[in-house]
Amino acid sequence: MASPAEEDLKKALSDLKSQNPSLGIPKIHALLLASHPDWTVSEKRTRKILQSQGLVQSGQSSIIVPTSRLISGLDVKKWTTKVEPRYFDKRRGKGLVAVEPISEGELIWKEDPLVLAPEWDYFDKQVRGVACWHCSTPLQHTGLEVPCRADGSSANYCPARFCNRLCLVRSDKTHALLCPAQNPASSKLLRYARDKQWLALYAYAQVIARFILENQNDAAALKEDLEVVRSFAQIGMEERFRNSAAVLGQEPDREAWKRGHELLVQTFFDPPTADGKKKLKKIIRKPLSPELEKELLDYDTGFLSGIGLMNLNLENHGGLYVLHSHMNHSCQPNVSVRHLDPRTALSRIFMVAKTDIAPGEELVVSYVDPNMSYNRRQAELRQWGFNCTCPRCLEQAKDAKVAAPAHGEAREGLDIGELERELKLGLGVM
Ligand SMILES: [Zn+2]
Ligand SMILES: [Zn+2]
Ligand SMILES: [Zn+2]
Repeated sequence: MASPAEEDLKKALSDLKSQNPSLGIPKIHALLLASHPDWTVSEKRTRKILQSQGLVQSGQSSIIVPTSRLISGLDVKKWTTKVEPRYFDKRRGKGLVAVEPISEGELIWKEDPLVLAPEWDYFDKQVRGVACWHCSTPLQHTGLEVPCRADGSSANYCPARFCNRLCLVRSDKTHALLCPAQNPASSKLLRYARDKQWLALYAYAQVIARFILENQNDAAALKEDLEVVRSFAQIGMEERFRNSAAVLGQEPDREAWKRGHELLVQTFFDPPTADGKKKLKKIIRKPLSPELEKELLDYDTGFLSGIGLMNLNLENHGGLYVLHSHMNHSCQPNVSVRHLDPRTALSRIFMVAKTDIAPGEELVVSYVDPNMSYNRRQAELRQWGFNCTCPRCLEQAKDAKVAAPAHGEAREGLDIGELERELKLGLGVM
């Protein structure tokens, strides 16, 4: 075992990287050791060389920022009079600012989701018919529960049940297209999302289902929802990975992206079987315009940005909320998001002030577990397209610099495998 000369190592790494351009640092390092079993090289050294040779992006310098804009005509008063959306700048995007004093412990507003792709344990309960398909609440045998509208004698039985008629009626915005009895092609899509634990795919499917049904039932609602979704912060999946790959050592699973896209297209536009086609036709009386279909499902400009948008905006438990999604991140948040009402399980969220908030102050939540170390928070937050410069991070950056002088070492101490798993589970990231 010997430490290779700098030049030999540079040559070997640049060869490996040019043969495997999509691989991140940890995998290149593993390949290096496998192809030179007599070399002793630390991953730190590999990283330094790859970065100094410009073979990977060296973190902080290059970050792709999401785009966002204010929603025109949004009536915030229906939630609260105490906050106002504001557009800051390109880097920070939009956010929420207090316009009246808010006291610590105060419930600022509560909000129901545009769509809900509930965490998988709740999803499993929905599929077993023991939690409401609409609001995810475990069913209590109140006598008010109702089944899906689909004919129960169908070969493709739908297990969906609802708390009461209200939840049934509300689910008319999406359910028919994701119902195994009414649109059998959707079963494969939902199973795939479940197997891959890919919340963003499931949430995006619900958004598309909602648009298709609004398109034929309620043109005004479609117009309003399109404005909302187009205004959400967005970043494509490739860009999301470019931001975080060098730091997290993740590889995008493009095969899964392709398969997810294919199943979405089958579910909403082109079921593989004749029976499936016939049933879908029964639901969709008026197809989306070709422009809107392209905007939602063109692989690069529609699908990958739609999934990226879900990843940026979904609340941790799987709901997509209009006002909540405005809030920016801080590792020292002044707002916490709670699920306080057992009757609405994961669906309804309550925004509670963690501190007094003065008029003019921005409302911020934490996108990641604030108990994690500085380095780990920074690494995870790059997926949202920013380096956190909250007061707590600025303070801790000084200490981190002493411990790890070069940025390339900022990742030290992270268990990448564990982090990757957590991210995938928590955010449906693929
Ligand atoms: Zn319900
Ligand atoms: Zn159903
Ligand atoms: Zn921070």
